[in-house]
Amino acid sequence: MNARECDVLIVGLGPGGGAAAAAAAAAGLSVIAIERKREIGVPVQCAEFIPLPLSRHAMAPGVLAQRISGMTSVLPSGTAVDTPFSGLMVDRAAFDRELAGAAAAEGATVHAATSLVALDADAGMARLRGPAGESTLHYRVLIAADGPHSTVARLLGLPPLQTVNTRQYTVPLLQPFADTDIWLSPDYPGGYAWLFPKGDRANLGLGMDLEAGGDMKMLLDRLHRELVVEERVGADILTRTGGAIPVGGLRDPLLAGSVLFVGDAAGLTHPVTGAGIAAAVASGEAAAAAARSWISGDAAALETYAEDMVDQFGEALARAVRRRAELMRIRNTPAFVNDAAHRRSWIAFDEYYRAALST
Ligand SMILES: Cc1cc2nc3c(=O)[nH]c(=O)nc-3n(C[C@H](O)[C@H](O)[C@H](O)COP(=O)(O)OP(=O)(O)OC[C@H]3O[C@@H](n4cnc5c(N)ncnc54)[C@H](O)[C@@H]3O)c2cc1C
Repeated sequence: MNARECDVLIVGLGPGGGAAAAAAAAAGLSVIAIERKREIGVPVQCAEFIPLPLSRHAMAPGVLAQRISGMTSVLPSGTAVDTPFSGLMVDRAAFDRELAGAAAAEGATVHAATSLVALDADAGMARLRGPAGESTLHYRVLIAADGPHSTVARLLGLPPLQTVNTRQYTVPLLQPFADTDIWLSPDYPGGYAWLFPKGDRANLGLGMDLEAGGDMKMLLDRLHRELVVEERVGADILTRTGGAIPVGGLRDPLLAGSVLFVGDAAGLTHPVTGAGIAAAVASGEAAAAAARSWISGDAAALETYAEDMVDQFGEALARAVRRRAELMRIRNTPAFVNDAAHRRSWIAFDEYYRAALST
């Protein structure tokens, strides 16, 4: 098979695409994986927390930054509640680079600075633009791992996913600690603010629904100033980033012909917490396995992938969508400032997992 054809084309080399590329190549498929950024993983658009089951991807030198053991959730009244919360802080650029490197080591052809620009899905044909110009590639399965504003979805005429915006500063951390701090506030409708420690620095960020109003820069600067006054962080802003987070739940459909959506492109990110790395890796690996089975003759394998994703993630995502909607429904009422409403809408509290009162 020459370079103009492959079994699997993977668009996007974030965690979803990297995991898919490594798994598909390891399963013996010919894989071409493209990433439009010049350098995989850069710029980082992430708070860089991963749950413990992803530890195996954090073992390479330069990936693991520190361990996390708890979460402090600060309610609108100022009450702070500590809960256990285990995970790792990583260097996300190194994390993504390691996954892409593992894919290349398994035999995948990896192209950075290369974008998908056109698609004829019926013919299994993709038009790519890279440093050497444009080229056409024939594929059997396409894995769309191209993030919250998926180009593949747009080229297929599928609707965009609902997203919230985020803004994040990396700041010096003056007092090392091992908890993630979360602020729930009526000032951040449809989102929250966070401080995630990473050794001698921390990621201080804010995500919210801009349609509900609010000035993210002003709000993040205000929180930053408060933490400087408390002598928790330094006044310098070492890096600035941001990005979109899907908050509408699973894309429907997850499958279009022989195109499978994974990770953020599939809407697998948790609409309340914004966490999506673990789901991106899991769905990328599952999509690769489905591609392998389908190419080996299992005609139902791609549909089975979509069903498996619904089984695995559907209920948790649907609950998160409901909890967000419940909170947003009351945002113009006095109840919106009450701790009770925010406890019901945040994963650290038992109320979040209880059956809905009215829905
Ligand atoms: C500020 C912020 C903080 C976050 N913090 C966390 C966190 O702490 N923990 C967590 O679990 N999740 C976090 N998330 C969510 C997490 O980053 C995503 O869920 C995760 O990156 C999804 O991985 P993915 O591979 O699906 O997509 P992405 O990581 O978005 O990767 C998609 C890739 O596709 C590429 N691409 C797009 N279009 C094309 C094209 N046409 N051609 C070629 N390549 C293309 C993009 O350049 C990109 O590299 C955060 C998100 C944001 C915005």
